[in-house]
Amino acid sequence: MEAEMEINGDRLWNLLVEVNEFGALESGGVERLAWTEAEIAARGWLVERCKAEGLEVDFDEAGNVWAFAGRRPAVMLGSHLDTVPNGGRFDGALGIVSALETLLSARETEAPGWDRLGLLCFTDEEGVRFGLGMTGSRALAGDVEPGEVRGATTSDGVRLSDELKAAGFDAGSIGRVASRRKDVRAYLEAHVEQGRRLERAGQPAGIVTGIVGLSHWRIDVTGEANHAGTTMADDRRDALIPVATAALEAQRIMDETDGLVATVGEAEVVNGATNIVPGRARATLDVRSLDEKLIDEANARIMRVAEAAAERNGCELRARETKRLHPAPMTPVVLDAMRTAARAIDLDAPEMPSMAGHDAMTLTKAGVDCGMVFVRSEAGISHSPRESSSQADCVAGANLLATTALELVRGN
Ligand SMILES: [Zn+2]
Repeated sequence: MEAEMEINGDRLWNLLVEVNEFGALESGGVERLAWTEAEIAARGWLVERCKAEGLEVDFDEAGNVWAFAGRRPAVMLGSHLDTVPNGGRFDGALGIVSALETLLSARETEAPGWDRLGLLCFTDEEGVRFGLGMTGSRALAGDVEPGEVRGATTSDGVRLSDELKAAGFDAGSIGRVASRRKDVRAYLEAHVEQGRRLERAGQPAGIVTGIVGLSHWRIDVTGEANHAGTTMADDRRDALIPVATAALEAQRIMDETDGLVATVGEAEVVNGATNIVPGRARATLDVRSLDEKLIDEANARIMRVAEAAAERNGCELRARETKRLHPAPMTPVVLDAMRTAARAIDLDAPEMPSMAGHDAMTLTKAGVDCGMVFVRSEAGISHSPRESSSQADCVAGANLLATTALELVRGN
């Protein structure tokens, strides 16, 4: 395939500058927490911008913004406009302006299939205020419990349902959003990588093969507290040793296994002191991979080694899995379209899983064909005012997104 069009890189950059006026911070970052004034205003800006361009635009019951260039169902391009506290200018926003820019450029150049493209802006992806996360995309996936939204509050007691009401939405109607999946032919998202793999590969943009699954564990070890001076090695029942062993084994597995990360992120001696042999210890474990078999193997190996350390040290170890998210591979037909698109624009796009969650994860689990483009993050920094990607890299990512979308609408 020949590339049908190139997006307008200056307009893309200007759109990004424009939207980042909402919630702009002196630090250079932005703060648009879901359903705050700045975030609602940013979505309002998007609606007005789409209207001014003559796109057909509306909100659904979750507050997601939908815009269509013409016919439905459409290949929807999107992301989110909410951020974390003291967040960056690219996470989410880049996907939204890349989507809008694609719709505009495709129409201007009359690229075949331009009228079968749409834009989708999801609400509350980050989930920082109400502890939910990906609320808009989960509503579309039909994966929001009725009581979940009604019961959601901020840490200082502000109810999500009240925030929705104040903005003109009814929390009780959120279940209706799922019926709009019929308008979605596929979902594509451009997003900053939030890691250093593209930087290491020396490439501006890459293809996301899927979103990793994760497994969380809670580990509790009981030994015996005793005097650190008078208790000799043979008499010790040190509860920290199995936890430390688990952390070392996690690192070893990570070194030996491609595409898996394992972290003991919390480790604590209960009532510990300088002169006491640890009597009780607790820790957490976080294991992620696109391959669920690798997750299971890592879990089993870490627990086996920690258990053996507990036995050697006369301790009792209890471990239980507290959370499991299954991996969400991107759709093969979309991946193929993306590879074809990369060749068409002469982009050597590395393929990699996303190690963080995104809206595409919930949609692909609901059977929507999904694909994601990653854009190189400078120094891999994200969720920070220092989050940055160059204009050239953003343009490369948007061109891969646009070319993939046109390839998909052409394919059927
Ligand atoms: Zn994001």
